[in-house]
Amino acid sequence: MGCVSRARVVILNSALGPLDYRVPGGMAVEPGSIVVAPLGPRQLAGVVWEPDRLATEEVGDNRLRPLLTCYDAPPLKGPLRRLIEWTADYYLAPLASVLRMALASMSALEGARTVTEYRPTGIVPDRLTPQRAQALERIAGRQGLIRELALAADVSDGVIRGLVKAGAVEAVEVDIDAPFPLPDPDHAPPALEPQQRDAAALFVDAVRAREFAPFLLDGVTGSGKTEVYFEAVAEALRQGRQTLVLLPEIALTEPFLKRFAARFGVEPVAWHSGLRQSQRRRAWRAISTGQAKVVVGARSALFLPYADLGLIVVDEAHEVSFKQEDGVQYHARDVAVMRAKLEAIPIVLASATPAIETRQMAEIGVYKEVKLEGRYGAAEMPQIEAIDLIADPPMRGRWLAPRLVREIEDNLEKGEQTLLFLNRRGYAPLTLCRTCGHRFQCPNCTAWMVEHRLMHRLACHHCGHVMPPPRLCPECQEEDSLVACGPGVERIADEVAALWPDARTAIVTSDTIWSPAKAAEFVSRMERGEIDIVVGTQLVTKGYHFPNLTLVGVVDADLGLQGGDLRAAERSFQQIMQVSGRAGRGEKPGRVFVQTHEPLAPVISALVSGDVEGFYAAETDARRSAAMPPFGRLAGIIVSSEDLSEATETARLIGKTAPHVENMAVFGPAPAPLAMLRGRHRQRLLVHAARSLDVQDIIRDWLGKIDWPRGVRVAVDVDPYSF
Ligand code: ADP
Ligand code: ZN
Repeated sequence: MGCVSRARVVILNSALGPLDYRVPGGMAVEPGSIVVAPLGPRQLAGVVWEPDRLATEEVGDNRLRPLLTCYDAPPLKGPLRRLIEWTADYYLAPLASVLRMALASMSALEGARTVTEYRPTGIVPDRLTPQRAQALERIAGRQGLIRELALAADVSDGVIRGLVKAGAVEAVEVDIDAPFPLPDPDHAPPALEPQQRDAAALFVDAVRAREFAPFLLDGVTGSGKTEVYFEAVAEALRQGRQTLVLLPEIALTEPFLKRFAARFGVEPVAWHSGLRQSQRRRAWRAISTGQAKVVVGARSALFLPYADLGLIVVDEAHEVSFKQEDGVQYHARDVAVMRAKLEAIPIVLASATPAIETRQMAEIGVYKEVKLEGRYGAAEMPQIEAIDLIADPPMRGRWLAPRLVREIEDNLEKGEQTLLFLNRRGYAPLTLCRTCGHRFQCPNCTAWMVEHRLMHRLACHHCGHVMPPPRLCPECQEEDSLVACGPGVERIADEVAALWPDARTAIVTSDTIWSPAKAAEFVSRMERGEIDIVVGTQLVTKGYHFPNLTLVGVVDADLGLQGGDLRAAERSFQQIMQVSGRAGRGEKPGRVFVQTHEPLAPVISALVSGDVEGFYAAETDARRSAAMPPFGRLAGIIVSSEDLSEATETARLIGKTAPHVENMAVFGPAPAPLAMLRGRHRQRLLVHAARSLDVQDIIRDWLGKIDWPRGVRVAVDVDPYSF
């Protein structure tokens, strides 16, 4: 028997496990090589794996089909392959699904070498309509596809095409593999304060040491954490190694890019879902060859094939949005730490309000805690005051208490900026019929339809279902009987407009800031002083630095405490601390007013008294005594089907076959928090176990024995965020 060269391949778009192939003569592959393999009549991309790490059905040499292509891209490296295995294992996800995140999209490997982009020429067209003038003003200095320029300028594609014909915009061919400009570590380093210098020195040493070293960088908002971790980035640059900076939202990318450019001379490489294919391809290739030195991105940037990663930073590390809730349900903060471990590099988790899990890791000495005391320079932390909504209620049909109204009035007179925070998009969270009480519910979800008055529609925030606001009540046919219940940001903006018709306001939510370009526009309007009052959701609570913003009003501090899950108090505290952190970041002091019905609630009194440590200590104790994370472990099992009885029966079967294990309890099944989502009925079981148990193994075993109907989906959420 001759020796056939074989390769074990994980196929990306297939539910099948790894398959063996013959490597044709002349093709060289190694573990990590990205290949194209035949599967039935199809040709599918896959990655070669070490045969001894993944079991498969043994197939004789003579039955092997040959691989078709090996891509001209660096093979995925060992540490990344181990990370992919770990993630699949820990989060009970198919290996191929995790692997897909590393390859991002196959367009990174194939496709055209150049792309046509457009940019203004500086020529003013003969016929300058108001739309053309607006477009030219807004696309100054930009370059992109026609569509992107049109979006940035808020005009139709036709307007941009017209400008091309008129010579005011020109086409340029861009090489898709053009190298990214290199950041300069010595471009504009700040003079650090002594405590910043000490912190930076620790990070710089860790980058040089090339060993796994997890840090918690803990300091109030505005304490200068970013400047400190920038020193670590500078060191990685000097060493010629790559840095990954993870941010929780793509809306934060744009201000970060600008700030990075001010420090390092050029923008870093951005990675997020807003990139188009050609940008993705360029970034992916530069990351895999090591040419892209600093990458800033949302959680998906975590699995990219860095050629020589030297440092990871997770900024705003406490953020909920690092938890992925769709597809592979992983926590990017935790996977980032694992990646740092496997790559043997330092990682910095930066936060003003670290999660209890993270604080606990610092407490037991696994993470090294580096603290920055106080704000940088002359800036002081703002004073937080509670407004008791029972003692000082707003006028009927209004939401801002008289005290807050006076403060805003004052602030307007002083020419300073105000931020009103309410974590609710749209006009009102609930719409009902005044006559019969009918409430508008989403047909696909257990959720109310939310009125968005600006867009003239009702929308479901869970599945995206929209409908025009009906004039007739569908139940009792009464005309114009619909009333809005409760406030959303749009309603607060209405109240502001009624109180101060001359004030310039902006609503900041994912409806209005849906792209990095929109975020950039908002930032520059704030900086130019063109906005007096911002009304916004959690989107405005983090990252931004506006020196003239001196007043923050939290419209409803009790909102986050509803629902009452175990993290409610912690999340509420973090959110209000973060939004308070927007106030008084420059020389002018900031003030924060928190409207509440429960001024004595522990969260509120901790915020007002500034007793951060006391609050955390009480929360941590409560978790410890209930053996809740991080002192115990949880996993959710969500069973869903379009058919209600199929979902409930399968969930019941899973519940009945639960193994009896000491120090482990299974609760449910019960309807999941969103009992219906996107047309699927959802039941949930909750596993609560001691830390010492290998919950994943137990669940794998348990679910592996159950056959469920084809229409049923079972998803396991390991370390769920909400429960
Ligand atoms: P954090 O990341 O902790 O919120 P930042 O790093 O954004 O804090 O710092 C807050 C503000 O202070 C920023 O405008 C930043 O540029 C400025 N700053 C921080 N440290 C320095 C320094 N050493 N020299 C000059 N400016 C600094
Ligand atoms: Zn819905």
